[in-house]
Amino acid sequence: MAVNVASEWLNSCSGCEIAILNLGETLLDLLPKINFVHIPVLMDHKHLGQLGDKQHIDIPKATVGLVSGGIRNEEHLEVAMEMRKKCDIVIALGTCATHGGIPALINSVTNEELFDRYYATESTDSGAQVPTKGISPLLDRCYALDEHIKVDIYLPGCPPHPDQIATAILALLNGETPELPFKSVCDTCPTKRMGKGAVKGIKRAVECPEFDPDKPIDEMRCLLEQGYLCMGPVTRAGCAGTNGEAPRCISARVPCRGCYGPVQQKGNQLLDMLNALASNGIDLSQLPDRDSLLRFSGAHNRLVVKQGKKTRR
Ligand code: SF4
Ligand code: SF4
Ligand code: SF4
Repeated sequence: MAVNVASEWLNSCSGCEIAILNLGETLLDLLPKINFVHIPVLMDHKHLGQLGDKQHIDIPKATVGLVSGGIRNEEHLEVAMEMRKKCDIVIALGTCATHGGIPALINSVTNEELFDRYYATESTDSGAQVPTKGISPLLDRCYALDEHIKVDIYLPGCPPHPDQIATAILALLNGETPELPFKSVCDTCPTKRMGKGAVKGIKRAVECPEFDPDKPIDEMRCLLEQGYLCMGPVTRAGCAGTNGEAPRCISARVPCRGCYGPVQQKGNQLLDMLNALASNGIDLSQLPDRDSLLRFSGAHNRLVVKQGKKTRR
């Protein structure tokens, strides 16, 4: 019998749902085994009933619930709680759900500052007002899913590699619990390492690294050793897929930005990266901005409003 699956997107960009569609032929193999009972990216299924006549969000019961995106407003919170109530197993899909993701960068400013900046200083409409009607009120900050509901399985990645999504769903169909690798991006990176401690200065990602395009990736020197802020040492592996390819960004000859979040669910990418940089000889006082080292994992109170800034409302 097919397993019922429900999917929801909260504070998300829909890239995680596209990753599900990117399963390609694997999705065709999976479809006879799963029954999507609710998936807004594919099916028209209204939250408040098809006629909009219900008072509370109603999502059908399912064995597996896939939730992408973090929690930023009251509607996200209500949908997340309904998914928890209706799904036996909740999977946090993507780094927005597991660690806040890019939207959690907002946690370094207050809501007040956000509104002032967007509506009072950067709007082209000088009379712009903060909208209040038909919009779910914001919470004080952007939360990862497990700050509000229990999560059973974490699938980080921005978005997660389709192979990883397929592996997780297949494991569940076989009655197994999917396991994530306790490895870093560096552990799956084939670049050449010459030894730590010799980096002289930090290079910006817009500067082209040294490599020969006619030579394979394992002939390129490690980007961190070349002076780039490559987050590979402190970022969970997974983006290389299951066929032994190089990590996605490294194969494009650009540094890892840390999109899979910390190697361990509760790790701190900022602290771990400062250690990695120091042990590579990089002077930490040269760092232009430390917050950006948490650009994918700013939930769980990792990124907070700095002292002296306005309080959150
Ligand atoms: S994890 Fe990335 S792809 Fe997924 S919803 Fe967030 S921003 Fe989009
Ligand atoms: S720091 Fe970056 S380039 Fe170097 S081994 Fe790790 S992932 Fe590869
Ligand atoms: S290399 Fe880093 S930033 Fe790029 S996809 Fe992999 S984990 Fe994400």
